[in-house]
Amino acid sequence: MGKVILFMGVDKPLEERKFPLSEELESGAILVRITLATVCGSDMHSWQGRRPFPSLSVLGHEGIGTIVRLGPGMNRDTAGKPLAEGDRITWAIMANCGNCLFCRMKGLPQKCLNLFKYGHVKSDVPPYFTGTFGEYIYIMPGTGVFKVPEDMADEEASPLMCAAATVAGGLNWIGMQPGDNVVIQGAGMLGLYASALSKEQGAKQVIMVDILDKRLEMAKEFGADHIINAQRTSDEKLVNHIKSLTSGWGADLVIEVAGFAKVIPLGVKILRTGGRYLIQGSVYPNDSFTLDSHDVIVKCLTIAGLHNYDSMYLGVALDLVYRSRDRYPYKKLAGPKFPLTVKGVTAALESLEKRKSIRPVVVP
Ligand SMILES: [Zn+2]
Ligand SMILES: [Zn+2]
Repeated sequence: MGKVILFMGVDKPLEERKFPLSEELESGAILVRITLATVCGSDMHSWQGRRPFPSLSVLGHEGIGTIVRLGPGMNRDTAGKPLAEGDRITWAIMANCGNCLFCRMKGLPQKCLNLFKYGHVKSDVPPYFTGTFGEYIYIMPGTGVFKVPEDMADEEASPLMCAAATVAGGLNWIGMQPGDNVVIQGAGMLGLYASALSKEQGAKQVIMVDILDKRLEMAKEFGADHIINAQRTSDEKLVNHIKSLTSGWGADLVIEVAGFAKVIPLGVKILRTGGRYLIQGSVYPNDSFTLDSHDVIVKCLTIAGLHNYDSMYLGVALDLVYRSRDRYPYKKLAGPKFPLTVKGVTAALESLEKRKSIRPVVVP
């Protein structure tokens, strides 16, 4: 048996339950004992009822753990490294079938027609352990899994599978180029990774825009060359400031990870002629923005959204973060720690809700 903390529905307290562990694993599956989970903003939004969500459900789609049992045929990770019981692994937020239109033809496996997403499904049916707020997780066949280097801390590795991999996929999707002047809107978890990872991929300079000084200060530790508090300046001054930092041209690449669509028109103004805009943050339904289509056409802009990621970008994010962990304090992003109890997980969600932390940690 293994313990989980269950989401029972909006405005209902979480509950602790025990479910039986699978003795026989299907081909390609893995049973993992979770050593640490981190709480993502979208877990909080599900818990708050900001989006339709199934219950009863084990929330959590960021975590790290060690292999308890390997299903038949599961002997290598997605990067080709051999896997054995006891190995520490990270896994993608989803399992995809590999055979449908989006998996095979359209380069969007995260939109697989048979998609399974951890922390997003009903958990009172086998295999039960479908989220990271539990002692175990059942890794489905078709999930990208990667062995974690021994000298990488759980705290550094856990948030990779949502925030860092999403950003790594986004930078590729929008075609980030070495030498780009990058403006990031939003210094939350995605924004801090966007700063470090774009720097690691050759950004000439990173300019971080946010409204919280605390987060802006943190952005400096994650590679931001300039920080701008958008609340203390006018839009016009902000655009001029960014032009002055980019020889008068404007940004090559703007990344929206603020989570609010209202920042998007300003992002368009910041872009240079021929610039590219990656929208990844304002994912919530019914949030809208208005653009001057003249600007989009005359400035020859490319505007692209990207949701979630192709599993390979978890591997890319893992490599980038591992290689650069002496330059950026990734460990600082995770914490404080809460126990895997109803009280602990509730407190972790509340700590995120009250903006006391960016990645609270749940330890079984
Ligand atoms: Zn997430
Ligand atoms: Zn598919």
